[in-house]
Amino acid sequence: MRDADFFRRWMVAAAAAVEREAQWLTELDSPIGDADHGSNLLRGFTAVRAALDAQDPAPAGPGAVLQLAGRTLISTVGGASGPLYGTLLRRTGKELGDAAEVSDEELRAALDAGVAAVAGLGGAAPGDKTMLDALVPGVAALGTSYRAAADAAEAGARATVPLQARKGRASYLGERSVGHQDPGATSSALLLGALADAAD
Ligand code: ADP
Ligand code: MG
Ligand code: MG
Repeated sequence: MRDADFFRRWMVAAAAAVEREAQWLTELDSPIGDADHGSNLLRGFTAVRAALDAQDPAPAGPGAVLQLAGRTLISTVGGASGPLYGTLLRRTGKELGDAAEVSDEELRAALDAGVAAVAGLGGAAPGDKTMLDALVPGVAALGTSYRAAADAAEAGARATVPLQARKGRASYLGERSVGHQDPGATSSALLLGALADAAD
């Protein structure tokens, strides 16, 4: 079973990964975006870490941790990725409810709902060269292991290179979006990598 502390460790690991890779995420967002993905997520996850530290009493359960993280991303990240990642974590947290501990199977089902909410909000599907190209295969592989999910998400992110963007800022470039890895798919792989790190 996974308690609130596990989810805090996930968010702290995500913040560390974003900090480590912020420059790369921004570089990926240069040719097919506005070169702010790394700074957007750095601001967001730094605020998530601060919000989790500042809450007294600490969020009691897994659902509360993820809902606080999601709300914080929505309120601190201006770009498209803020509301999308915020929705992912908030919706996943809502699905987990107020249980003190959740099973891996409950987390998998909750993340499924969270990913569906991202698709609902942004109107994207796999193949559109967005974060869903990492999240969908990643969450599908959770049934195997957390590390398999991280690996599938990373493969999904790499597989966005030959795709033409159909959603978000990169879609304005049409065919010129081909040949570049999607920044949001890349950060989604980092998020699932952080989950695997927390689970190790
Ligand atoms: P912005 O494009 O507003 O500057 P970011 O650079 O932070 O925001 O995030 C860009 C990423 O957001 C893209 O690489 C893509 O993965 C993701 N994204 C954009 N629009 C959508 C959408 N409609 N559905 C899913 N993901 C999206
Ligand atoms: Mg951007
Ligand atoms: Mg922007």
